[in-house]
Amino acid sequence: MWQATPASAPKPLIINQQLAHDLGIDLAELETPSGTDFLVGNLVLEGSTPVAMAYAGHQFGGYSPRLGDGRALLLGEMINVGGQRRDIHLKGSGRTPFSRGGDGKAVVGPMLREYIISEAMHALGIPTTRSLAVIATGDQVARETWLPGAVLCRVAASHLRVGTFQFAAQHEDRTLLQRLADYAIDRHYPHTRESDNRHLAFFQEVVTQQASLLAQWMLIGFVHGVMNTDNMTISGETIDYGPCAFMDAFDPTTVFSSIDHQGRYAYANQPHIAQWNLARLAETLLPLFADTQEKSVEVATAILLDFTAQYQSFWLTGMREKLGIMNEQNGDEELITELFDIMQAQKVDFTSLFRSLSSSVRGDSSLARALFTEPTAFDRWETSWHARLSLETTEGMAVADVMDLVNPIYIPRNHTVEAVLTAATEGDLTPLHQLLDVIAQPFKQRSGYESFATPAPPEFTHYQTFCGT
Ligand code: AMP
Ligand code: MG
Repeated sequence: MWQATPASAPKPLIINQQLAHDLGIDLAELETPSGTDFLVGNLVLEGSTPVAMAYAGHQFGGYSPRLGDGRALLLGEMINVGGQRRDIHLKGSGRTPFSRGGDGKAVVGPMLREYIISEAMHALGIPTTRSLAVIATGDQVARETWLPGAVLCRVAASHLRVGTFQFAAQHEDRTLLQRLADYAIDRHYPHTRESDNRHLAFFQEVVTQQASLLAQWMLIGFVHGVMNTDNMTISGETIDYGPCAFMDAFDPTTVFSSIDHQGRYAYANQPHIAQWNLARLAETLLPLFADTQEKSVEVATAILLDFTAQYQSFWLTGMREKLGIMNEQNGDEELITELFDIMQAQKVDFTSLFRSLSSSVRGDSSLARALFTEPTAFDRWETSWHARLSLETTEGMAVADVMDLVNPIYIPRNHTVEAVLTAATEGDLTPLHQLLDVIAQPFKQRSGYESFATPAPPEFTHYQTFCGT
């Protein structure tokens, strides 16, 4: 049991009305001063026992046996209107026994950033933790300068991480590990309970969920930025939006995080890192897989190696959809690779390009062509692509409509997000509300929102993001 540091003058910056509704929370009550006190950790509801969770983790490949919620608290759980169990969690709620040298605090900009990006991911259909509210604490927090403090109220399928298993596995007695694994099975993958080897079936499920999640990130140009094992969930939800960002011009080496000097978490490395993290999860579970270490390693390795094929299959299916291809043909992969090669060579905006392709199917190539400095390379590719599409049985217009359902027009673009956060930190919340309105419907073109679909101006090309801010 732990307590939040009281906020001196809490004030809601944003409350997620739809999510409150989905959780079965009375919005009118949430919007009262005591609702604010609840969301910032000042008021502990009856029956709630806030805890700081323990976990370990590999950070940039180096192992820390004890990380844990250094600035967060799990308030408790709720059953939402769909009957699903959800964690209610505060981030930025003050020091805990896991704070080490940190102050346990968070500031307005990064908490709103998590709110924006997580809600954008949700609207894009990608599994993610959600954001219920950001409350300004009224207190100043020491960073490079003094900044206004804030608490994010986060909602998640659970906060079980690969790092949670790493923490449990450190105990000599394997009872704790087994209890944790069985808890995770009951909570996330109850159907594996009946398997001959439930722990192996559970591991297999986590691998599949992560393969699917990583494919979805890659298909949308998302760079998580800090894929440490403590930032990877067992549920398969994206978690911990620190230095993450969406890529503008396509470049597989894209890194935004200021501390990722080696590019460990670069865009194209993400699936490999996910597999590496899953190997760390497998190591913790070995005692549960089989009677001998040798046998456990053998069965776990087979599942781990299969990650690559699963990821590739999810990705290829998703890429075909992005290109309006409904059935499979040999040569599809080459067609996709060719497109990425010319996008990379000509630094083409990822989101704009994929969105523009539906217009090409409708007979207007000008939008796509305009994105290339030397459009002849695109023209050649487009000819092969159209030839490929002619093998489809679905009619062109229907194909274009389906493409618009998977290629977003609006993502939270880095320059827009920065402008919104700067305004909000200075007290102007209007741009925040407008951006949230735009990203809530990422696939539907709306007039008046053209600027949200435009790539960053050239001076924004060296965008950097920061961890743990
Ligand atoms: P993150 O990179 O945000 O996933 O955090 C990594 C670890 O650092 C976690 O154990 C966090 O709880 C901890 N941490 C991050 N920021 C702070 C802070 N301001 N005070 C205390 N602990 C922190
Ligand atoms: Mg984290």
